[in-house]
Amino acid sequence: MTPEVESGMERIVKRNMLKYQVAQTMFCPYCHACLDTERAVSVDVMRSDKLIASKIACAECWDRGKERLNAMLQANGYTIDVTDGRELFKRGAR
Ligand SMILES: [Zn+2]
Repeated sequence: MTPEVESGMERIVKRNMLKYQVAQTMFCPYCHACLDTERAVSVDVMRSDKLIASKIACAECWDRGKERLNAMLQANGYTIDVTDGRELFKRGAR
């Protein structure tokens, strides 16, 4: 597979995973706004490639809390994998 096909498939998989998470959660757990897949952010907390937790929030709550969360998790040896619906669904993205 060419890298373009591979990244295109990865994008489709990530979009579907985000849609699934939004459908399961429905509301942002922080501000209780109704989640929109194109403005939702999914965060996987990892420790040496092992998935520890997965959280979803609206873009506004993520933007407000990301620096604090990042600093706290990194200080404790965790890494995070962020799937941002705004990137994934932005106009022109395939
Ligand atoms: Zn929110």
